[in-house]
Amino acid sequence: MTGKARGRKSIFITGGASGIGRATAKLFHGKGWFVGAFDLNETALASLAQELGNDNCITRKLDVTDKQDYENAIAAFAAETDGRMDILYNNAGIGESGWFEDIPYEATMRLVQVNFIGVLNGIYSALPLLKATPNSLCFSTSSSSATHGMPRIAVYSATKFAVKGLTEALGIEFARHGIRVADTLPGLIDTPILRNTPNRTDGTKPTEDQLKSQTRGTFRLMPPEAVAEAVWGAYGTDKTHWYVPPELVWIDRMKVFLPRYIRGKIGKSLPGSE
Ligand code: NAD
Repeated sequence: MTGKARGRKSIFITGGASGIGRATAKLFHGKGWFVGAFDLNETALASLAQELGNDNCITRKLDVTDKQDYENAIAAFAAETDGRMDILYNNAGIGESGWFEDIPYEATMRLVQVNFIGVLNGIYSALPLLKATPNSLCFSTSSSSATHGMPRIAVYSATKFAVKGLTEALGIEFARHGIRVADTLPGLIDTPILRNTPNRTDGTKPTEDQLKSQTRGTFRLMPPEAVAEAVWGAYGTDKTHWYVPPELVWIDRMKVFLPRYIRGKIGKSLPGSE
């Protein structure tokens, strides 16, 4: 063994510098895993590396939309893990909100590139390592907005449906390689994406008071560690979808039997609908 991982299990995380990715990096580090954290944000990666200890991780700048950059990042990771990868965690993501026509075309294209093409780049690049690792898991961050299409985050929601559909299909395909495939559908998670994504229609961002007042119900504000626990849970089982919190699954179930009711409830949450 020549790499820093020294035979430890390993996880490759995109968007690893912040929020859900960072919480997952810390959780797996605490379980004795070797962590690869990849992100655009080099400053935050440097502080994570310091927290985890340089011998326990590899951190590197990566733009998931750049296939060549992705392949180079995978090669750097493989050099530390002797060609193995127990979990690929496609987690990097960005948000866009507002009415469809208020979001500039270029911003929408970037959203699709990061949230969906980035996942495809990851899977193409990591597949040889996943195949070479017994019981490996290909895991991605979808969203509660992939239960029912969500107005005012319509394309974001569509990218997350794409991730969810890809997960289901590849879960069947990759069984022949011995690779499991799963995803998480988080609700409202307390991370920077919530605060930093302006509504393109009116320029507003959720205030601290608004976020902190979400204390009850399916869309209560939850810590990123709750999603990290779902990733950990997914490694131990064959379950495909990890809803955080688990009761979010009811949107998926109820829309089959009560589609007008669910559509009406989502419509009522829009401004001006009272
Ligand atoms: P976050 O903003 O804290 O983290 C996202 C990270 O992705 C950032 O560090 C950012 O630098 C990185 N990133 C963005 N574009 C990138 C690119 N092109 N290449 C590499 N890295 C890039 O937000 P988060 O909530 O931790 O987001 C993680 C994932 O969770 C995203 O896919 C997001 O869509 C999803 N999600 C979040 C919530 C929520 O409520 N926070 C809910 C459902 C799903």
